[in-house]
Amino acid sequence: MTRRRWIAEHWDEATATLVGVQAEHMARVLRAQKGMEADVVAGGHVFHAEVAAVSAPGEPSEVRFNLIAELEADPALPVTLSIAIYKFDPMEWAIEKATELGVAGIAPMIAWRTDKYLAQAAEKRVERWRRIAHEAAKQSRRSDVPIVYDPVLLPARVQAATEATRIVLAEQERTTTLRSAVEEAQTAAGNKMPVLELAIGPEGGWAPAEEALFDANGWRAVSLGPRILRAETAAISALAVVASYLE
Ligand code: SAM
Repeated sequence: MTRRRWIAEHWDEATATLVGVQAEHMARVLRAQKGMEADVVAGGHVFHAEVAAVSAPGEPSEVRFNLIAELEADPALPVTLSIAIYKFDPMEWAIEKATELGVAGIAPMIAWRTDKYLAQAAEKRVERWRRIAHEAAKQSRRSDVPIVYDPVLLPARVQAATEATRIVLAEQERTTTLRSAVEEAQTAAGNKMPVLELAIGPEGGWAPAEEALFDANGWRAVSLGPRILRAETAAISALAVVASYLE
C-alpha cells in the first residue's frame, strides 16, 4: 500500500513536523495516531517516517514524525517555467500541471499583453499559486516543491543574469523546434544536465518589442509546430518534450 506523502514545514536530522492545514487534516480528518506510517519530505529529501506525537484538540495543529529511513528522492527537472500572466484559472491549471511534470521553478511575468487588472491582482494571487504548487507536489509524490517566484515585469526576467539556456516559445517561429534547441543544450552541457528556462506568452502572444528583447538577451525562439496552442497547452507540451530528454 502506498504510504501518504506529506511535505514538512519544520525538520531536523531526526524529526519532521507538519503545522497548519496539513497538520489539521492529518490530526482531525485522518485521526492520526502515534505509530502511523507515512512518507515525509523534509528539506528536499524523502523519509519513511512514523507519527511520534499529535497535538490535542483545541491546541494549535501539529503532527511530529520520527524519521526512520531516507528514501530515493526524484530531483526536479532543472527547468524554470517563466509564464506570462493571463486568465488565472487556466494559468493555475498550468502551474499544477507544470509541478506534476517536475518543474523546478515557476516565474510569473507581467507581459505587455497581460490584462492590467490581472497584473494588479497577481501580487496577492501568488500565495495561492504557491499553495497550488505545494498541493500538486504532494499529490504527484515529488520530493520537493517548485519555487513560485514573485511576479515581475517581463524585462526584469528576460534580462536577469542566469546560467540557464533560455528558450522562448514563439508561435510565429518556423525554423527552430524546441526539440532541436534542447538537443543543442544537451550537447553543450556534455555529461551534465542542461539547465533550461522556458518562456510562454500570454493569450495575446508576445508584443514585437518583447520578441526583440528576448532576442537581444540571447533567448532562443522555438516552435511547437504549426498550430496556435493555448498558453497552458504550450507550457505542458513544452515541459513534456523537455522531460522526455532530461528524465
Ligand atoms: N499570438 C497567438 C495567436 O496568434 O493567437 C496567441 C498566443 S498563444 C495563445 C500563447 C503562447 O503560447 C504564445 O505566446 C507562445 O509562447 C505559446 N505558443 C502557442 N502556440 C505555439 C507554437 N505553435 N509554437 C511555439 N509557442 C507557441
